[in-house]
Amino acid sequence: MNLAVGIDIGGTKTKIGLVDASGNCLDYLFFRTRDYDDLDAFLDKIKGSIDELIIKQKKPLHLVGCGVGAPNASSRTGTIENAANLKWKGSVPILEKLKQRIDLPMRIMNDASAAALGEMLFGNAQGMTDFISITLGTGLGSGIVANGQLIEGFDGFAGELGHIDMTLGDGRMTGLNVKGGLEAYVSATGLKRTILYMMSKYLDESRFRGIAYNDLHGEDITKAAEEGDPIALKAFDYTAKILGLALANFTAFTQPQAFFLTGGLVNSGKWILEPLERYFEDCLLDVYKGKVQILMSGLPDKTTAICGAAALIWEKQR
Ligand code: BGC
Repeated sequence: MNLAVGIDIGGTKTKIGLVDASGNCLDYLFFRTRDYDDLDAFLDKIKGSIDELIIKQKKPLHLVGCGVGAPNASSRTGTIENAANLKWKGSVPILEKLKQRIDLPMRIMNDASAAALGEMLFGNAQGMTDFISITLGTGLGSGIVANGQLIEGFDGFAGELGHIDMTLGDGRMTGLNVKGGLEAYVSATGLKRTILYMMSKYLDESRFRGIAYNDLHGEDITKAAEEGDPIALKAFDYTAKILGLALANFTAFTQPQAFFLTGGLVNSGKWILEPLERYFEDCLLDVYKGKVQILMSGLPDKTTAICGAAALIWEKQR
């Protein structure tokens, strides 16, 4: 059976899976990225995880290649550059180092660009020529497809929309030192910061009063919204407002048919999506109104990013 290995290096988790030519992820595993301070130990763990997945299959496999999605990565340079949400700073020659361990054809790309490829090959963007994937995890990433082509940019670092200043240089800092940058507000971590901000601004009763940042979890914020917690509701509304404005602004660049949302924050469902639709439509230029959809990824929630990484390999086989 022909399979590709898909690796998604995330700020919080690294996920590795085996993906067939139709985008089905047969098996996957994950571990905490932050448990590895040492880059070589991290890469050894990746190699060990691939071996583990292969052994578990208990049947002969043919691995056609290995695709890697990572934040602040480029397919042109094969490096990760000063990642906002990873421990390894500077220029990390990730492709070269992985090739020393894994004897397969290999490609690396920005994680959100890989997610866009996955959506185009296997997901809800099949047949679309113009769309933008937005990944909402530890950070915010974007993969831009225009006229049927993935836009990687001159050096492969296009799509860093998470670091666009939304506040005229007067807001929260992102991991790339951008004051007021989008991902400091709209991401799993941004939402937690907003809960603390809302408590400093409003006096409403809330189950989160007195809570420390590290004890806040995305699922609890969703649960609190379901129970009518006013701080949770205000936080979702604020997050949706900023994202709605940002997506409306991005529309002016390439006029996408759709935005596809993936990542942890999307699991908050209607609490973020309903106000988002409203703010987005309000902020759109008249010429775009009613023409741009906000959609969910068509790939399974837990393995979206793995399928995206594997798409780097399957794309070349088609
Ligand atoms: C990085 C992007 C990445 C996104 C999602 C951002 O902090 O700058 O490259 O796509 O996080 O991981």
